[in-house]
Amino acid sequence: MSYDKNNIFAKILRGEIPCKKIYENEFVLSFYDVNPQKKIHVLVIPKGEYIDLDDFNNKASDKEIVELNKAITHVSSLLGVRERGFRTLTNIGSDGGQEVPHLHYHIFAGEKIGKMVS
Ligand code: AMP
Repeated sequence: MSYDKNNIFAKILRGEIPCKKIYENEFVLSFYDVNPQKKIHVLVIPKGEYIDLDDFNNKASDKEIVELNKAITHVSSLLGVRERGFRTLTNIGSDGGQEVPHLHYHIFAGEKIGKMVS
């Protein structure tokens, strides 16, 4: 499968559709999920064109991989959720429940997140 340049997060990265931005640097963008599943629901995405975590780990530079991981910690600090805790996850492919084919980590916080899987 090749990267779909017209996926919604690619459009957000190009500034073609708006997002409620939390944080941005050379490597990553973080913004609020448009359809929050918990009190706080945020996404962290790489700026590079990666379909999912497998694609990212296979093709991204070490710097990009480090920066995406660090961004999760940084964004959780910005949100003020480090002390009470949060959950981060990434869905991969159809069995994983991935809807947008651009790698993204979800951050859920602000309340008890509950069962790990349903
Ligand atoms: P996933 O099922 O892991 O691919 O998650 C995709 C997420 O993207 C869902 O939680 C959607 O609510 C979210 N989403 C879709 N479109 C947008 C958008 N334009 N801005 C912010 N979040 C979005």
